Amino acid sequence: MGNKISRFRGNYEFLSNFYPCTISVDNLIFLSSEAAFQAFKCALAGEREQFQYLDAVKAKKKGRQVLLKPDWEFVRLDVMSKIVRLKFEQNPQLREKLLATGSAELIEGNSWHDNFWGDCDCPKCQKITGQNHLGKILMKLRDSI
Ligand SMILES: [Zn+2]
Repeated sequence: MGNKISRFRGNYEFLSNFYPCTISVDNLIFLSSEAAFQAFKCALAGEREQFQYLDAVKAKKKGRQVLLKPDWEFVRLDVMSKIVRLKFEQNPQLREKLLATGSAELIEGNSWHDNFWGDCDCPKCQKITGQNHLGKILMKLRDSI
């Protein structure tokens, strides 16, 4: 108890949504959970296909250009939970690695001011407690498998 994984890098890069792995969601194939997540932002189902086979960086960029689902703000946590669950269900070697983190607290520490999915630790954000939703989703999933 008491241990903390506060950067999804190195040995823990697999916890990041940018980690390359194949995920199938609703008959579409994505190369990272980030790409799947970005695809499901789209208001138009037909637009999702364009996110297949994009790497995470390109998918994130593309995600800024699409028309968002009108209720995106309210459903994005559920969408992320579903995609992260599929990532670990469909990639057993990653599931084993997630289980191997034991009871460590998982925090997506970052320096890019993301205090929603993670917790930015730059000087400017120091006083903000990140909501760490990605870390919470991962811990909840770990508890359930
Ligand atoms: Zn910051």
